[in-house]
Amino acid sequence: MARILYFLNRRPCENVPGKHFWRNAYCQSKEMILILDFYVDEPACFGVPPYLSPYCRYAAGALVAGGIPAEQIAYMTVDQWRAAGKTLPDEYELVLLISGTTVPGRYLGGKIGTVAEVLEFLDLQARHDPHSTTLIGGPIRYASPEIQKSMREKGGWLIRGDLEYYAERLAAHPEGIKKGVHAIFENARHPVFPAKRSYEDVDRYAPRGAFLTALHPNNPYLILELETYRGCTREVFCSFCTEAFYGKPVFRQPQGIFDEVAELSRMGNRYFRIGRQADLMTYLPDMGDFKNSFPRPVPESLELLYTGIRKAAPDLKLLHLDNINPGLISTFPEESRRIIEIICRYNTPGDTAAMGLESADPDVIAANDLKCSPEEAMRAIEIVNEYGAARTDGLPRLLPGLNLIQGLAEETERTFEKNYLFLKRVLDSGMLLRRINIRQAMPYKNTKLERGRRQQKLRGRNKLEQRFIYYRDRIRKEIDHAFLKKNFPAGTILREVIIEEQNPGYMLGRPLGSYPVTVKIPLDDALAEQARKERRPLDVVITGWEERSLRALHHPIDLRRLGLKAIETVPGLSRRQAGELFIRLGKGEVGDEELLRITETLRDLRFDSASLPGP
Ligand code: SF4
Repeated sequence: MARILYFLNRRPCENVPGKHFWRNAYCQSKEMILILDFYVDEPACFGVPPYLSPYCRYAAGALVAGGIPAEQIAYMTVDQWRAAGKTLPDEYELVLLISGTTVPGRYLGGKIGTVAEVLEFLDLQARHDPHSTTLIGGPIRYASPEIQKSMREKGGWLIRGDLEYYAERLAAHPEGIKKGVHAIFENARHPVFPAKRSYEDVDRYAPRGAFLTALHPNNPYLILELETYRGCTREVFCSFCTEAFYGKPVFRQPQGIFDEVAELSRMGNRYFRIGRQADLMTYLPDMGDFKNSFPRPVPESLELLYTGIRKAAPDLKLLHLDNINPGLISTFPEESRRIIEIICRYNTPGDTAAMGLESADPDVIAANDLKCSPEEAMRAIEIVNEYGAARTDGLPRLLPGLNLIQGLAEETERTFEKNYLFLKRVLDSGMLLRRINIRQAMPYKNTKLERGRRQQKLRGRNKLEQRFIYYRDRIRKEIDHAFLKKNFPAGTILREVIIEEQNPGYMLGRPLGSYPVTVKIPLDDALAEQARKERRPLDVVITGWEERSLRALHHPIDLRRLGLKAIETVPGLSRRQAGELFIRLGKGEVGDEELLRITETLRDLRFDSASLPGP
């Protein structure tokens, strides 16, 4: 089947008019290089739609910097590849495959490519297009030696350094790509390819790679992850984390970021997240002044960064962030307060600052070199709430999110209870938390966690896992739900929600943003359904809360375009009233005045900033 699809998908070469001539690497193909995005997810970089990771954009820019015209570079996502029966639309001289996840996750916007699929792709290429070269980059470089060996045996060149660096070298090779592959890869003594790009390189690649956004299926509703630095700014590293593999942190200078944003904006992009760094608070910190393993943050660096981005993209619609460190905030409260205030001045509302608490159990914290104690985390949550809980357009400006991990060293059954009690304390304190992310640890090769696991006996793990699931479910039911109600009262309007999935009875959508909340819209909301069919975002109004998601209807509500299920979700109507209203609407017995009165119920419920939680 795959083979049949492969041939069906090939197109005649438009550069040889009038002849039945298949495009391939040896004709003057318009697109000779493919960037194949299997998506990435690592602690400080995300690239599953609607996100497009810097890896892909840099790779494209490096090719252009090496002399390949942008028109000769194609882009395809792993979802498109699957939908095409795991075939490519053409033959390519070079494929740059970007892949890898070092954190576990579930995704709504796309299905991340697996290692098995990478190997399958290499097999298919070897069979169908043996002249093509595949370079593999991204976090997959940290795969086990066995996987690396399999990739090599199947003909893929795994880059342990930076793919973009090698992409530029190949593109610029004076004798062309084929000869370049021979000289750089086939003749290499050690098939490791460890060279890394510098930030001067990144600043050359990033604006040149901005054109890739126009080729993405989500364009223009695409969030672009911006990079400020790589590596961890702490002096000690958490046991599970792979960010330390990047070595000592190296910071990108602001002008390069501004030039990239300006070019992305010129291409029509409006959605940005400053997400590619371990802790945004320590962008260009004072690396000569450490306390509790953290460098002193410099508020002026953040002021410079945010004002520059705003200037480079004056009509941006989204400016969110990822990753701030609760340990750093409690260690340097004054500098942190100033930084949070700066962020809240320049970001767009509904922002989430993910903070890695990982565990509220002091024994686990000590054994895994985690960032802070529960008390310090509480102080950090307080500081973010001081400025971030204030609302703009009904949404809190910036709320803390918390990450918890199960599977760390020294966990006991009490650990999960301690996590639960910590969260309960935050809830009872009246502060707001946007998102509680509970993950299971992925012991990555060469992390302290993985080394410990090798020695650890697995006795008792089952019991621990049962306890973990019990408390995880309690957190979902009792705490997540309560925070959702506080954060998004009925009547709150969410803008530009993208419908990403359809299930029996409802659609699932999310607004563009950092850790966006999921909304469920009944299928019989005709206006929402129309937006879904036309693949355009819609505004929604919140009507209720599920365990971890919100119920919503198209905004503004048009009762005449709602089915019975949708009418039943309108707050203030009993089931019986909803049924009667639906029948009367069908008979045309409901006048404009009555309709207005019902829809205004929602407006009455709507936020009255003074009565909402927050400072
Ligand atoms: S503080 Fe810990 S989790 Fe964060 S980047 Fe450093 S090592 Fe990783």
